[in-house]
Amino acid sequence: MKTDVLVVGAGFSGAVVAEQLAGRGLNVLVVDRRDHIGGNAHDRHDAHGVLIHPYGPHIFHTNSQRIFDYLSQFTSWRPYEHRVLARAGELLLPIPINIDTVNRLYGLDLDERTIQAFFDGVREPRHPIRTSEDVVLNAVGRDLYERFFRGYTRKQWGLDPSELAASVAARVPTRVNRDDRYFTDTFQAMPLEGYTALFSRLLDQPGIRLELGVDFFRMRQRIKASHIVFTGPVDAYYAQCYGALPYRSIRFEHEHLQDTAQYQSVGTINYPTDFDYTRITEFKHVTGQVHSGTSIVREFPQAEGEPYYPVPRPENEALFKRYEALALKERDVTFVGRLAQYRYYNMDQCVGAAMKAAEYVLQKLGRRVAPDSPGAQPVPGADAPVILRP
Ligand code: FAD
Ligand code: UDP
Repeated sequence: MKTDVLVVGAGFSGAVVAEQLAGRGLNVLVVDRRDHIGGNAHDRHDAHGVLIHPYGPHIFHTNSQRIFDYLSQFTSWRPYEHRVLARAGELLLPIPINIDTVNRLYGLDLDERTIQAFFDGVREPRHPIRTSEDVVLNAVGRDLYERFFRGYTRKQWGLDPSELAASVAARVPTRVNRDDRYFTDTFQAMPLEGYTALFSRLLDQPGIRLELGVDFFRMRQRIKASHIVFTGPVDAYYAQCYGALPYRSIRFEHEHLQDTAQYQSVGTINYPTDFDYTRITEFKHVTGQVHSGTSIVREFPQAEGEPYYPVPRPENEALFKRYEALALKERDVTFVGRLAQYRYYNMDQCVGAAMKAAEYVLQKLGRRVAPDSPGAQPVPGADAPVILRP
């Protein structure tokens, strides 16, 4: 069968591009070197029948009605608001830091009228705010920084917060109320039958063919496609000609506990100062599954291994820009997604960026773009432009 577009990667970015292109009559071949769909959002049942996320906990949240509506074509939802506690000595306290975090840590009785004065008394004003250290010291001062952010960040990234862009720690706000949810987005829900079921429906289109366990670099010669959409690491596409772009990896240590209905009181507990792992997540909180046992995952960050996170800091952005300059010269290749755009995207941002990328490919291939189509609208959350030719 003729292939109009080859999509490399069956994660959120690749699957959404493929669905959008197939919906406009193009023949799309999706390849992934892994033996499953879903990319890092893939989920599956473990040997004990508990639905787990092999690549770490994936909690869906978005402020975009459009992205939520789009995905709702492929899944029903289970409402779920994620809660996280962080261990500080013997205490388990809410993260993001809120009034209760401060009261329980210091034995205080602050409320919504007095909490800001407390933060004003301990914060270390920073100007300009360039690094993750600046963000946290500027908001809550040194003691809370040391207890909750410094050690966690050093473990997660192998870097001090002073070496990381402000945008990393800025993902976690400081609250002047008692809201103990990890996210405050308008839409917070998990796919009712899981992510893999969602991906199956996304990719189950007449115009889409799927080949798993296939590495693009080994098959590119045998496929003639008018356009390629690449969602893998951008430096890999260029054989790391300017040197390796740093990505952070994680070793996931999964464990099943038999005859244990619940292991911990919330979905995730963070360990900012103890142990080599950053956090433990118990999947049953997230999925709502009922089971006599429970399955958990510990995350051990590491430099080597599968690329999971771009590492936001100025020198990496500068290296990325060199690869981006090559990418911008490509006539028939579009780069989209967390690894290809080197952006710390959440899942919804990948969906938004992929819709935009699909519109570009359609225009490039001479297909008319409907003015009311999703990708023709601005993409909330997709903060960096998709790498496209101007
Ligand atoms: P990926 O999912 O990485 O997909 C890229 C695919 O391309 C992979 O399957 C890969 O095998 C394939 N590929 C790469 N190179 C090749 C090649 N040469 N040939 C063939 N195939 C190739 N987001 C949230 O919104 N909420 C969360 O709670 C959340 N938690 C996360 C927790 C962790 C531990 C991690 C790592 C990420 C988390 N994310 C979360 C982010 C989320 O995983 C990403 O935003 C999203 O899954 C990225 O989708 P993608 O398609 O861009 O990339
Ligand atoms: N962070 C921290 N302590 C925490 C939670 C987060 O220091 O208890 C910092 C850390 O640098 C982390 C970043 O904030 O990498 C972003 O946290 P988030 O939970 O968004 O990370 P992700 O879920 O993407 O791994």
